[in-house]
Amino acid sequence: MNVRKGTEVARGKTKILYESLDDARQLVVRQGDAITAGDGARRDVIVGKGRLAALTTSRIFRLLNKRGLPTHYLGGGEDEDENEMLVLRCEMIPLEVVVRGVVAGSFAKRNPDLRRGATLSPRVVEFFLKDDEHHDPMISREDIVARGIATQQEIERMEGLALETFGVLEDAWRRRDVLLVDLKVEFGRSGERREVLLADVIDNDSWRIWPHGREEEMLDKQIYRNLEQRNEEALGRVKRAYEEVAAAVADFD
Ligand code: 5GP
Repeated sequence: MNVRKGTEVARGKTKILYESLDDARQLVVRQGDAITAGDGARRDVIVGKGRLAALTTSRIFRLLNKRGLPTHYLGGGEDEDENEMLVLRCEMIPLEVVVRGVVAGSFAKRNPDLRRGATLSPRVVEFFLKDDEHHDPMISREDIVARGIATQQEIERMEGLALETFGVLEDAWRRRDVLLVDLKVEFGRSGERREVLLADVIDNDSWRIWPHGREEEMLDKQIYRNLEQRNEEALGRVKRAYEEVAAAVADFD
C-alpha cells in the first residue's frame, strides 16, 4: 500500500487513524496488538494480533464490497501493509449496531426466559450508544432521533445494511460449518451526500462464532472475555483462535 501517512486524527482502544497525505478524503487505519474487554477494564497485548485483525477486517470488507454493500474500505490490510488499510474518511455515527441470529451474550442476560443458543427469527437488531464511561448503554430508535444522533432514515438504512451484512457473513461461515451467532458493526457518513457506509473494522472482536453450532468451541473474542487467568498460555490459546479465524476468512469469496 503506497500511502504517505500524515498526523494521527483519532485513536481507539485497538487502532489508530492517520490522515493520508495523498488524498484528504482518505484515512489510514492501523490495527494494533492490544486486546481489550469490559470497555477497556481488561487489556492485554498479543504480539501479532494487529496483523491478524488487519487481515481479517480487509478480507471481510472486500467480501462485502464484492456483494455490493457500501463500505469505507479502499484497500490494504495485506501482510506487506504493516497492519494498515486505506479507507474513506467518514464522520462516525457513535452507535454500535448489533444483529443477533442466536440468543447469547447480553441478549441472553436481558431475556432469561429465552433458551441460550435458540435461533432468533426474525433476527434482532439492537443499537448501543458508544460511551465507554456508561458501558455502551442500549438506546432506542426514538432516543437516537431525539438526541440528533441519526435520522429515522439513517436508522432504517443502518438496520438494513447490518442485516444484509449478517446474511453475507452467516452464509460464508455456514459453508465452513460455523454458526454466526451475533455481529456488531458501526457506520459513518461519507462525502457531500453523507452516504451511510459500513465503517470501523469487522474482525474477530466483532462477532460470536460457534463451530458446529457449539458454544464451547467458540473462536471469537469471547474466549478472551471468559479467561480467568490471563497468563502466557491462555493468551497463546486466544492467539491461535485468531489465527484460525484469519485463515478461514482468507477463503471467503
Ligand atoms: P453483547 O451485547 O451480547 O455483549 O454483544 C453482541 C455482539 O456485539 C457480540 O458479537 C460482541 O462481540 C459485539 N460487541 C458488543 N460490544 C462490543 C464492543 O464494544 N466492541 C466490539 N468489538 N464488539 C462488541
